[in-house]
Amino acid sequence: MNWITNYVRPRINSIFSRRETPENLWSKCDECGTMLFHRELSANLNVCTSCGHHMAIRPRDRFTALFDGGIFTEVKVPEPTDDPLRFRDQKKYPERLRAAQKSTGEKEAMLVAEGEMGRMPIVAAAQDFSFMGGSMGMYVGNAIIAAAERAVELKRPLVLFSAAGGARMQEGILSLMQMPRTTVAVQMLKEAGQPYIVVLTHPTTGGVTASYAMLGDIQIAEPGALICFAGPRVIQQTLGEKLPEGFQRAEYLLDHGMLDRVTPRTQLRDELIRITRMLMGQPPAVAGDLPAPAEPPVEEPKSEEQPAPEKAEDGTASEEADQTK
Ligand SMILES: [Zn+2]
Repeated sequence: MNWITNYVRPRINSIFSRRETPENLWSKCDECGTMLFHRELSANLNVCTSCGHHMAIRPRDRFTALFDGGIFTEVKVPEPTDDPLRFRDQKKYPERLRAAQKSTGEKEAMLVAEGEMGRMPIVAAAQDFSFMGGSMGMYVGNAIIAAAERAVELKRPLVLFSAAGGARMQEGILSLMQMPRTTVAVQMLKEAGQPYIVVLTHPTTGGVTASYAMLGDIQIAEPGALICFAGPRVIQQTLGEKLPEGFQRAEYLLDHGMLDRVTPRTQLRDELIRITRMLMGQPPAVAGDLPAPAEPPVEEPKSEEQPAPEKAEDGTASEEADQTK
């Protein structure tokens, strides 16, 4: 009986105790409703393995999957003035900021980094929709200017991933001023002859599409991304007419000449390598010759939605890892 009580029972318990937190291990696809195992989902860059629906991906995870070996250095962004309008709706603006910082673990809605992608040195910026809707405030403006300045200084291409609900209302006119500011930053990049590539992700709307998100030398979008200034609901209400199928989605915009490419996230890195090499006058990369990105992005342990998956190669090793927790 010793063997059963000492070995078998704890083993069974450990297997079942792991099953007790399904909400941490599974995510539901918004599009097809399939339950997806988080490890499989993050290995596929948050693209549904069943229907190909592109879910949001955090800038840090995106960079880990973009840069060679997942290695990148953050570019410092100058801090803007805190809450200049002393704005208050149901909550004070600084309180909203602090709540967003706590839930995302990030300082603001844009992350800027430099590193190599397929041995091509680049500067990259990515907007975080989970941080107050990725809204463009003074910090995001500063981040884009810092990214453009760094790209000019290092003579590198700038790759920008946009995702935003628009301008940050809590900063009023100061958020709208980021439209001309970021446009000037992009112009600076163009005058220096450095390529600027925009990857539009779901959703990219409002003032962001009226400035830096639409000024790329190459405009790529992820499949199914909503890209617009005013959203379909507002337009439908204003016109009083039914809008065509897929209106303002990436594929529709590609058909109507607003985009150059619609590229699935899992092929994006290879495509960006190809484009940046071409624009920088380098020969095409030989397949299999380039360094791989990192292992699938690992969620930050503090994230509440998904626990950090173990970097185990197979099930057995991860079971052991679970037991040591
Ligand atoms: Zn799906």
